[in-house]
Amino acid sequence: MSSTEATDPTAADGRGGRLAELVAREGLDALFVGDLTNIRYLTAFTGTNAACLVGPDERVFLTDFRYVERAEAEVGEGWERPPAERDFVPQLAARMKGRVGFEDAKLSVRQLGKLREAVGKRAELLPAGDLVEEMRAVKDAAEIERIAAAAGLADEIYRWAIERGLAGRTELEVARSCEARIRESGAEPSFAPIVAAGPNGALPHAEPGEREIGAGALVVFDMGAQLDGYCSDCTRTFATTDPGDEAREVYELVRTAQAAALGAVRPGVGGRDADAAARVPIESAGHGERFGHGLGHGVGLEVHEGPRLAASSEDEIREGNVVTVEPGIYLPGRFGVRIEDLVVVGGQSNRNLSGLSKELTVVG
Ligand code: ZN
Ligand code: ZN
Repeated sequence: MSSTEATDPTAADGRGGRLAELVAREGLDALFVGDLTNIRYLTAFTGTNAACLVGPDERVFLTDFRYVERAEAEVGEGWERPPAERDFVPQLAARMKGRVGFEDAKLSVRQLGKLREAVGKRAELLPAGDLVEEMRAVKDAAEIERIAAAAGLADEIYRWAIERGLAGRTELEVARSCEARIRESGAEPSFAPIVAAGPNGALPHAEPGEREIGAGALVVFDMGAQLDGYCSDCTRTFATTDPGDEAREVYELVRTAQAAALGAVRPGVGGRDADAAARVPIESAGHGERFGHGLGHGVGLEVHEGPRLAASSEDEIREGNVVTVEPGIYLPGRFGVRIEDLVVVGGQSNRNLSGLSKELTVVG
């Protein structure tokens, strides 16, 4: 999946410069970046060991001897790549001065201790929040196309899985066959697929089990692909023969709530307000307590990233965000329904990357 020809250094070009502006705006002299996903975003590097120092006057990238060639192929022109010593944190620390931020949500206590020791009194280390993550939340056109491609692949795999039927197979068998199919298609699962039938579907984070999927059941099916670094995320709830009136009613209620939330996702709207839009119809039908998770989350290089759409979110939706919209209702011991689309937030209108029908589909 991490084929070097697929990376596009030009896409990452300019990100280091933009980060340097944010770093200066925060009153910092530099930011120490150790999170590999953030490093990939900034430099296009896909290896598993690296660190960067980014400030108005410098863009330094260090990796170990195993990745020197890869770094040469992937990391753009704007980065200084000095030969790295075996342990390159002290090497990078030697270049730190003034006020140096670190990724406080990502750096472990042990790593911070090591960095502090290496820096000594040369620089002041300060928690800098999620500067790179904030950049990542707003996607450019090339990123959006990669996410769309991952979503399109997941749709194909859904169609393939549905054709094979669900009833009479175990949840685990369905989930594993989809994982294998994703890999055969040259991608990776962006998370282990969830296939949860009947009462198991009432657990929002159910793990597929050896249980055979029966007739007349609702099956919550949550799957995504990671293609060329970028993830997708989609849920559909299918039925195996007629699931009965109540299940159909709950299904339609979730569909109504999802449509309301899709309409509420616009630039300038708070993540909590989009979440609230989905809750209105669910609460008025008396199922408010049964929608126990947030409405959605950003998707990109990671399957869960910013912004967050939830009652407790302080994020604001912006043009270029790619977010899931995934309300659900879970009736313990009975069944669950979740419908999840992946949406690009546009200035005028949104683009829905999930192509599967949302009518209740009886799969058999
Ligand atoms: Zn999902
Ligand atoms: Zn999701």
